[in-house]
Amino acid sequence: MGRHLAYDDDRHPGFGEPGTAPAPWRDDTLAIRAGFERSDFGEHGEPIMTTSSFVFGSAAEAAARFGGQDAGLIYSRFTNPTVQVFERRLAALEGSEAAIGAASGMAATAMLMLGTLRAGDELIATRNMFGSTVNLFRNFLPRYGIEVRWADDFVPESWAALVTPKTRLLYLETPTNPLTEVADIRAIAEVAHAAGARLAVDNCFCTPVLQKPLEHGADIIIHSATKYLDGQGRCVGGAVCGSEALINELTSFMRSAGPCMSPFNAWVFAKGLETLRLRMFEHSRNAATLAGWLDEQPGIARVHYPGLESHPQHELAARQQKASGGIVAFEVEGGREAAWRIIDAVKLCSITGNLGDARTTITHPATTTHGRMTAEDRAAAGIGEGLVRLAVGLEDPDDLREDLERALAGATRAVSA
Ligand SMILES: *Cc1c(COP(=O)(O)O)cnc(C)c1O
Repeated sequence: MGRHLAYDDDRHPGFGEPGTAPAPWRDDTLAIRAGFERSDFGEHGEPIMTTSSFVFGSAAEAAARFGGQDAGLIYSRFTNPTVQVFERRLAALEGSEAAIGAASGMAATAMLMLGTLRAGDELIATRNMFGSTVNLFRNFLPRYGIEVRWADDFVPESWAALVTPKTRLLYLETPTNPLTEVADIRAIAEVAHAAGARLAVDNCFCTPVLQKPLEHGADIIIHSATKYLDGQGRCVGGAVCGSEALINELTSFMRSAGPCMSPFNAWVFAKGLETLRLRMFEHSRNAATLAGWLDEQPGIARVHYPGLESHPQHELAARQQKASGGIVAFEVEGGREAAWRIIDAVKLCSITGNLGDARTTITHPATTTHGRMTAEDRAAAGIGEGLVRLAVGLEDPDDLREDLERALAGATRAVSA
């Protein structure tokens, strides 16, 4: 049993005879139980361990621990017990050997890049991704000699054509933010492995409940814990999941560079994982209801949702994902003006850039989450001025539909007036 499925033989004989591993738990049990060993207090819930540092018994022990490989608890920038609960629970759900928490989703991505790549290495990615990821790759990585080669689509041959002897990493989101384009993880993983490179997948939109990228051949998973892992829009955090060797490499980077997760946020995320399955299927159900309804409304040119049969990768999504997720993007006729009018007219949906919240959020990607991309990158990604992104929450879908119905009616009247 790996160290990420921590259990305590002595206090929990039901978890297995001392010294033997328990039967492997199923996901719903791991989500609730994995990663936490209670202390001598016998606490039932995970405590928040707010301490900057940990004490040693002697100068010699301190010296040995600071210099050791698996140094244990030293200082909360290196690791912290509450952060470890979250890391182990997430790794158990993703099926990865290990995971490391980070201060945000972007800190996780930046840590993966700076902690594993060096000047002269190349990376392949698409522009149809979260805006800050595109900006990190476009504006910062080249400063450190890491070149990004951009694929125009998810066709494996397009990615293979960009491979050079310097290719180290392939990076993708599926479904993408905001257009919910779906990539065939296995096909792109094969391109990566044929090139001797690794594939990293940003699993923010699906979470391990709906999709486990490692089972499809990916090597590394990125998470913005800010989104569905928290699930209630309270904390910012991120994580990288992968092999023990990779996470050790990143732990070493963490010690030197410090983009660490706070214990409080880790506690919120560990708690979020317990209800993740219930929430992800409910987000998906509500989103599917609204996507189907939006698809029939006048004034809407196109609805992007993997659950719709009209979605170009509908079949692939049905194979690769357990449900279609909570994000729906739609294009309105009338460009930015019409899109903004709808956003300004809703009363229930919140105008905010976050997603994965119990509260439904609405945003205009071209001027917010993806506003700092160059116009050319936005055009290549297909993010138009009439595009609206809904991150469907857990409210009653009838209330959401009525909110959008009122907003659309107002917008359509104004356009035809
Ligand atoms: C929000 C987001 C990120 C970045 O996460 P932060 O926690 O905001 O830094 C990365 N990828 C995707 C798909 C996102 O939606």
